[in-house]
Amino acid sequence: MFPNRAPKHGALLSVFLGGMLNKNILQKSDEELISITRTEIMELFRCKTWNPRILKIHRHTNAIAQYTRFHKQVYAMVHNLQRTHPHCILAGSFINGISIADRVKQAFDISELVS
Ligand SMILES: Cc1cc2nc3c(=O)[nH]c(=O)nc-3n(C[C@H](O)[C@H](O)[C@H](O)COP(=O)(O)OP(=O)(O)OC[C@H]3O[C@@H](n4cnc5c(N)ncnc54)[C@H](O)[C@@H]3O)c2cc1C
Repeated sequence: MFPNRAPKHGALLSVFLGGMLNKNILQKSDEELISITRTEIMELFRCKTWNPRILKIHRHTNAIAQYTRFHKQVYAMVHNLQRTHPHCILAGSFINGISIADRVKQAFDISELVS
């Protein structure tokens, strides 16, 4: 997708393991995580060999805001706080969307607000 991120006949992959329903995976050792990844990648891409030149593991705990059934109240609280305290601006993925695109939109909205 992006040029110069991988050698000509190679590929750079990001592999995500875990998630809210599989949080315990973070407790596994690097070796175990590599083994799971190896099995899945080899199966998925039908590779006969596994010889990654670079392998990096990043553990993200509580990485992404989780919207629960109380989110409506959280949203109302944030809205109310900003209405009563107009100089207090709250930003972040816990309010209105977790994606980078949501963050960019929020940044534009806030810059409109303060300009
Ligand atoms: C592994 C991973 C992959 C992702 N991939 C994608 C993707 O491909 N596309 C997509 O749209 N979204 C993706 N997301 C989701 C998206 O990146 C996040 O939802 C978004 O970055 C959240 O933005 P944020 O500003 O709310 O929080 P963050 O980006 O987490 O920013 C919060 C900042 O506050 C700082 N901070 C925290 N506490 C304090 C403190 N007490 N004092 C000072 N600073 C503090 C942190 O260091 C951090 O810089 C991904 C998330 C993860 C974890």
